[in-house]
Amino acid sequence: MYFKLASLVADSKEEFPPYVTDVMYLGGCPLRCGFCNVPDLLHTKTCEDKDVDAMAAYFAHKHTQAVSIKGGEPFVQANALITLFKQLKGLGIKTKVETSGYFPESVRAALPWTDYICIDIKTRLDADSYSRMTGIKGDLALMQLYKTLAFVESTEYPVFKEFRMTIVPGLNDSPDIVENVASYVRKYCDLFILQQFIPDGDLVNPDFKNLPETPHKTLADMAMVVRNLIPAVAVRTREGLQFVR
Ligand code: SF4
Repeated sequence: MYFKLASLVADSKEEFPPYVTDVMYLGGCPLRCGFCNVPDLLHTKTCEDKDVDAMAAYFAHKHTQAVSIKGGEPFVQANALITLFKQLKGLGIKTKVETSGYFPESVRAALPWTDYICIDIKTRLDADSYSRMTGIKGDLALMQLYKTLAFVESTEYPVFKEFRMTIVPGLNDSPDIVENVASYVRKYCDLFILQQFIPDGDLVNPDFKNLPETPHKTLADMAMVVRNLIPAVAVRTREGLQFVR
């Protein structure tokens, strides 16, 4: 069994503290978020085939403390991901995955082997807004996300649950949008992160390059809205991650 691996970044201290974490970036994603800053990861053209057993052996040999899998959308490669996570858990290595929530059954299958899940929520939880933001017609993207959230909420496994939003000026930067999302996940959210949109590099929709980066004040104001609902809130900007007290 093989991964379509775009890149591997070793020894991150920020990815899953306090563990030193190796980060795998997988290719492939069915969504087309205009603000997405990893257009090269939406397909597998530049990926290498990497054997799952060989990856597990590599991490074991390296004495890796934790492995994080991102994309693209990692659950496009759910079988390889779950097979690797099972092996890593057997080796005592921590596991983290970041997802858009588009593949609920795969998320459910992975939860027993997952220590940390980050779900990237794009905007207000209504079908039109979600369709516009993800490029998926109709209500499919939102319905898939709802199923994923239900599985994550009800899991019996001790999975750390992060929810994240990238705040894009003019698209999802109003307090009522973040309040809508935070209200929905508040009961089972361990950490909510508001992320700055930074129009550097390639974006899926080149028109988004004309948007400004998210002002710090906007992020701070939205963080206070979330803080009223969820105890652990942080803002990620160019300068790094800052928790809101
Ligand atoms: S931001 Fe959207 S398009 Fe980009 S990888 Fe994530 S889900 Fe896919």
